[in-house]
Amino acid sequence: MARILIIEDEKNLARFIELELKYEGYETKVCADGRTGLNTALSESWDAILLDLMLPELNGLEVCRRIRQNNKTIPIIMITARDTVLDRVSGLDSGADDYIVKPFAIEELLARLRSLLRRVEALATKELTTLTFKDLSVEIESCVVKKGEHIISLTKREFDLLVIFMSNMNIVLTREVLLNKVWGYHTGVETNVVDVYVRYLRNKIDEQNESSYIQTVRGIGYVMR
Ligand code: CA
Repeated sequence: MARILIIEDEKNLARFIELELKYEGYETKVCADGRTGLNTALSESWDAILLDLMLPELNGLEVCRRIRQNNKTIPIIMITARDTVLDRVSGLDSGADDYIVKPFAIEELLARLRSLLRRVEALATKELTTLTFKDLSVEIESCVVKKGEHIISLTKREFDLLVIFMSNMNIVLTREVLLNKVWGYHTGVETNVVDVYVRYLRNKIDEQNESSYIQTVRGIGYVMR
């Protein structure tokens, strides 16, 4: 069952949340100050953290920031008595995934918790598709393109074009085929737009003085090999 850490200094509220979570089948632990909360968050494994904003020792924003330095993915819901845009923004800036304002209905907290846990589970079970060629790699679902360790930022069109090349290694693709695959059949775009975008793409992925990742096949089109 999912393990939830509750970092909240109001004893009655913490007790109430804990009872409700246990009733729902979660495993829980309560920490009543920021420093203990941070240490517990980092030293044990948790599926989600409920984090009060105003805490003794170390405030919730700081706790959140320090958890995020070590763990980018664990879901954190910030709980606060204040509801100002500034609080909400700084809560989310510090790395919280969601935000709930006191007093809240416990059903709402439970619903948000379930939704965060579902999101994490969906991400964890989804297989990421990665295409690679030499030092280039493309993660399809996250749209991340890397050359070695460096992230290359591409426009949507450039990304689509690169994916077509990388999923058709060693196959010569005509301008018409590329146009159809990337721009669609009925766009009425001139085929030389393909040349323009291949040039954009080469500028971003090629090294000077080295042969291009995308080769021109004179009179026909392009090929990645
Ligand atoms: Ca508090």
